[in-house]
Amino acid sequence: MSRPYSPSPLNISRRPARSVGVGPVGLGGDNPIRVQSMLTSDTREAEACIEEAMGLVEAGCEIIRVTAQTRKIAENLEHILAGIRAKGSDVPVVADIHFKPDAAMEAVKWVEKVRVNPGNYADKKKFVVLEYTDEEYAEELGRIDEAFSPLVLEAKKRGVAMRIGTNHGSLSDRIMNRFGDTPLGMVESALEFANIARSHDYHNFVFSMKASNPKVMIEAYRLLIARLASEGDDWNYPIHLGVTEAGDGEDGRIKSAIGIGSLLADGIGDTVRVSLTEDAIYEIPVARALVELIEELRQQKPIKADLSWDDVPWNPFEYERRASEKIDVMGLALGGDETIRVFTTQEKWNAVAHKLAKMGDFQPEIVIEQSGVREIDPLDTAAIAELNTMTEPQLITVADGLELPVISAFRLLAARVDPKHPILLKDTLHPSTDPEADFQRTMLNASMNLGSLICDGIGDAILVQGEQAPGQSLRLSYNILQASGARIFKTDYVACPSCGRTLFNLQSTTQKIREATGHLKGVRIAVMGCIVNGPGEMADADFGYVGGAPGKINLYVGKEAVKFNIPEDEAVDQLIDLIKEHDRWIDAPLEVAEIGD
Ligand code: SF4
Repeated sequence: MSRPYSPSPLNISRRPARSVGVGPVGLGGDNPIRVQSMLTSDTREAEACIEEAMGLVEAGCEIIRVTAQTRKIAENLEHILAGIRAKGSDVPVVADIHFKPDAAMEAVKWVEKVRVNPGNYADKKKFVVLEYTDEEYAEELGRIDEAFSPLVLEAKKRGVAMRIGTNHGSLSDRIMNRFGDTPLGMVESALEFANIARSHDYHNFVFSMKASNPKVMIEAYRLLIARLASEGDDWNYPIHLGVTEAGDGEDGRIKSAIGIGSLLADGIGDTVRVSLTEDAIYEIPVARALVELIEELRQQKPIKADLSWDDVPWNPFEYERRASEKIDVMGLALGGDETIRVFTTQEKWNAVAHKLAKMGDFQPEIVIEQSGVREIDPLDTAAIAELNTMTEPQLITVADGLELPVISAFRLLAARVDPKHPILLKDTLHPSTDPEADFQRTMLNASMNLGSLICDGIGDAILVQGEQAPGQSLRLSYNILQASGARIFKTDYVACPSCGRTLFNLQSTTQKIREATGHLKGVRIAVMGCIVNGPGEMADADFGYVGGAPGKINLYVGKEAVKFNIPEDEAVDQLIDLIKEHDRWIDAPLEVAEIGD
């Protein structure tokens, strides 16, 4: 395997990173994992920004980002910072910069950190396909150096930190043409800016590799870490984790937990931002809960077993389903390229058996007690050896009750058993006995553990046993499969969290669009607040609903804008018409699934 991204597949300890000061708050080093968020208020309205910022501080937010669209708007950062300080808070503020180096040069005077997006800081972004000769490529790089170096020197002089924050979907034409819209392109783009910063002996920066698809996000961050390690020990820059456009509600939280949780569980990450299409204040408890889950995980003893990255049958940088063999369980095919099955317990089955017809897609498929699954201790080499002598594929899982980190335990099992044996994944090895258990914690833990393994192609079935309520555990199972891209049973939304650039009410509009289109299985709809970043960051959505001007919406098919300046109150209907025009519409079922607790 090319250079790994962590010491071993069983590693749960934190990647050592240099400490970077963001005003009074340190990132990396021995600092705790920091929780941050972003204002949705309009940066031109200082009072609104100050009030929102103070609300976030009260909620436990440690770093606050605010967009600075232009040099003129960036001037208002002076008043925002002054207002926050006057209210007695020294919370560091970050200016979010896209397309405008002059806005960055203004912002750096007032804030503790500046976030630049290498894809659009000074590079062309017109979705134009062009072959770049090496000379042309180097020439463009020279132009970026000229545009970015002044900011580096100013930040260095003022002791201001920076984030080199690449986003999937907003890579420059040059990078797209050479590397495609890929994790590698994201890494290359960021390293170009890092090299410029280092050429001025400036090291007060962190990296981020965000995408709305957790699988792409995980691969990009892992690739970055492996690359930094190969560049040298002094490339130990801290990492800012986030899944962009994760959306709202449970889906937004599950997607964020799969992406951010998986990487934290691998030891990667020094600060996190959960971007939800909700008031920013609701992001904090989710991010805080994820950090607490990881702090608890790191109290656990890592599995002591001889396993290196060269021993594992999966590629952590490129998704491929583990090649198990198909078997029949309770009349259902499982394993091979079969859809990942949803298990439940006999007790839960009995509790919902009377209303299966009303539960829509959230069907319990297999009862574990009737499945014949073999519960294995992955450290039990004799049991593993016996299993590997069997000619017939057996459904296997990690035994309950073992004091082993879940992800590591299933990785060890997948690495040691013959791949023909299909694997039933579990969210925890300690089934819940507490009907009052905190559902958000259970949801984040299940998303992290099951999502991480599924995104590595491990697993042919899942069982959520951290949640006692039959309906909730089934809904969570299907939503985790959808969010990790393993089983699509409903519409998928890519919705931006909104910021000072937003041109319509994202939360209520996303709700309206969800109510009208939530039944369109497998259709991906992007809801993006502005035209500046929207089209780039709506990734591979089938349809896009994007703010074009205040109160005016542009509609997209894929990346192509097809309808412009639609008054907001007509836009959702026109979106539906567009979906019908492209034969992706079906009428909503008369009955809505009743899943209950
Ligand atoms: S797409 Fe959304 S979050 Fe991104 S810049 Fe536009 S309004 Fe802000």
